[in-house]
Amino acid sequence: MGCEHLINDKNRIVVALDYPTAREAINLAEQLDPKNCRLKVGKELFTREGPVVVEKLQNKGFDIFLDLKFHDIPHTTAAACAAAADLGVWMVNVHALGGRRMMEAARNAVDKCSHQPLLIGVTILTSMAADDLLEIGLSDQPANEVARLAGLAKDSGLDGLVCSAHEAAAMQVRFGTDFVLVTPGIRPAGSEKGDQRRIMTPIEALNSGASYLVIGRPISRAAKPAEMLENIVSDISQVKT
Ligand code: C5P
Repeated sequence: MGCEHLINDKNRIVVALDYPTAREAINLAEQLDPKNCRLKVGKELFTREGPVVVEKLQNKGFDIFLDLKFHDIPHTTAAACAAAADLGVWMVNVHALGGRRMMEAARNAVDKCSHQPLLIGVTILTSMAADDLLEIGLSDQPANEVARLAGLAKDSGLDGLVCSAHEAAAMQVRFGTDFVLVTPGIRPAGSEKGDQRRIMTPIEALNSGASYLVIGRPISRAAKPAEMLENIVSDISQVKT
């Protein structure tokens, strides 16, 4: 994974398929163009529908971010990452809280696979505030815990991180442009915030150093999802990254 790959990658939007059934996920996918976006399959859809839904979406030409946030002993996490690689997904993620040995094992496992997805770390879940962290023994401020785990993920050989677009600029300064930054909490100007608190527009996020923008409801709940996606793609095509 290198900077050049990113510069040449015009496909920066990852649409979150937060649905309980394959039927709903595929219905949205059929309205979208794989040239304009990739798709994110998370725990609910994958647990209900299994790898078959990933294969069906891939057969329609989409790259898949398998957002299962693996966190287990090194051997088990490594095996799960290899399984994701064998499934042919474009991106897979693990919790940095699993530690260096777990992340290195995941790295080594993916490196041995013939198809190698991007291996991305999750630091601290954004649902956790300082008091939640204290309760599980993490006594530092959330921002410091995020920074420490981000460094550990980089040192352990991961390709990048999921982070807020608000953290992207500092992450890019610290880790360089080769480190992939995947940012949720994106809202096109004028769309509803929903339960997201710290949001950025797609243009702001890319200008802040985000590599890929995870966008769910603004596209999935739009009256015309394809039109919404095309508008975002057209907006961001002006951004020099
Ligand atoms: O609908 P919306 O654009 O808010 O969806 C964002 C997607 O990104 C959801 O799948 C959500 O679970 C995920 N996500 C997030 N915030 C994080 C990590 C993941 O919103 N910190």
